[in-house]
Amino acid sequence: MLKTLLPSNDTMQGKHIVPQERVLFWGNGICPSCKRVIPGAVFLRDGYSFSSKYCSYENKAFEALLAKGECGKASFKAPGHWPTINLKEGNYGISDCDVRNLSNIAVATFHVTYQCNAKCKICKYVYLPDCRKEMPLDFIKGKLRFFRKKIVAIFGGEPTTRGDLPGILNAIRHSGNIALLCTNGIKISETGYLALLKRSGLRYLDLSFDGFSEDIYGKLRGETERYQYRLKLKALENLKKEKGIAVSFNTTLVRGINDDQVPLLINYALENNFVNGISFRPLCLQGAEEFAGMTRDNLLSLDEIRSKVSDALGLSPEYFEAWDKAKLAAAAFLKDKCGWLRGPVFLPGKVYLLRRGGKFKPLLELAALKELETALKNKNIRGLLQFKFLGWYGKIALGLLLGKNLEFGILRRSGIFKISVSLLVDAINEVYPSCQPLGDFNYILLRGDTYNFDLNAIT
Ligand code: SF4
Repeated sequence: MLKTLLPSNDTMQGKHIVPQERVLFWGNGICPSCKRVIPGAVFLRDGYSFSSKYCSYENKAFEALLAKGECGKASFKAPGHWPTINLKEGNYGISDCDVRNLSNIAVATFHVTYQCNAKCKICKYVYLPDCRKEMPLDFIKGKLRFFRKKIVAIFGGEPTTRGDLPGILNAIRHSGNIALLCTNGIKISETGYLALLKRSGLRYLDLSFDGFSEDIYGKLRGETERYQYRLKLKALENLKKEKGIAVSFNTTLVRGINDDQVPLLINYALENNFVNGISFRPLCLQGAEEFAGMTRDNLLSLDEIRSKVSDALGLSPEYFEAWDKAKLAAAAFLKDKCGWLRGPVFLPGKVYLLRRGGKFKPLLELAALKELETALKNKNIRGLLQFKFLGWYGKIALGLLLGKNLEFGILRRSGIFKISVSLLVDAINEVYPSCQPLGDFNYILLRGDTYNFDLNAIT
């Protein structure tokens, strides 16, 4: 149905789909109105990626802006025992029951609440009604039984609004998994609270941090949110003093607001060992740009961000791509050599660095990455042995063979710093390739109340 609809200039929410658009891939998504699984596609128009879905039950079409540039999928056919999503048109929503080999997933993200102690204008949760339930602790404990030695990301809303967050962290620790807390840092500015979370098992924390001025938070998150900067700085001070919690920045970059902050963030990380990674993301509001007073001109493409990061680090513009190619070659090599490789951690857009002589140095130079890719493609074992980093990468791969995600711990112990550039898209607007392995987005979102709130509000 959608295939015939797309090229035919039909109206989708009052907008025209122009015939010269290029479809990037077909798949399934969720109908924002009736919440059923419906056919969809991601396509490129005027240099921007959009998701497009058509619901035959409601006879409605939906379109959402995803990103500047091409928002594609990695081209690697994953082994059959990697997690696979199986969406059937007409079913209600996506749940873990739709994922085959759920326990082989590399990262499980639990949306534990939709409440937040901030009110950022770029946040879709702010526009949602208040009646949403939190994910019950018993539900979390029940789901944790699927996983062992996996990264369990605690996501919101803002997880620190939950009084039982220490209990959640404890449950994750006792289940044999590794907790990663994703937070805005407001509550982390309270010293005693951070100490309590640490006692409950917190070792990894993702802090949303957009740069070093109050103005950035005023422009990006709203005039009433300028205070966030002061509290985030206090949170960083606390994290530095507390020791033993590895922090990664989650930075939303917006053209004209904070796209000049890339070198400053990298320098801060260089000078502060407790920061062991940065994830740069373009703003992605999926159709809600106007609510936030933004336009598509504010969006940066992944390529533009990679080039800013490469400039700041003095790396070749090809560097990110070279890592992606080497990782795909490694995945294909491992798949070929050990057909029972159990889970993917080959996220594209991630590079690894070492702190050396007051600078970040690439873990592997560009030429070495190319050699590595060639050796993997040629299955040249002797060629591969020259790469010293195979010690830690080998351990990560071994963990994968056994279905464990050891990446965080190993990188941390080896003092390796990672920078990733990727897009965060909400499941409701994502289009999943039908019945495809989850090889290129190796995590799943678990929600306690997916169908209880009005998702129309965000589309
Ligand atoms: S801190 Fe995060 S969850 Fe809270 S309002 Fe801002 S963007 Fe939304």
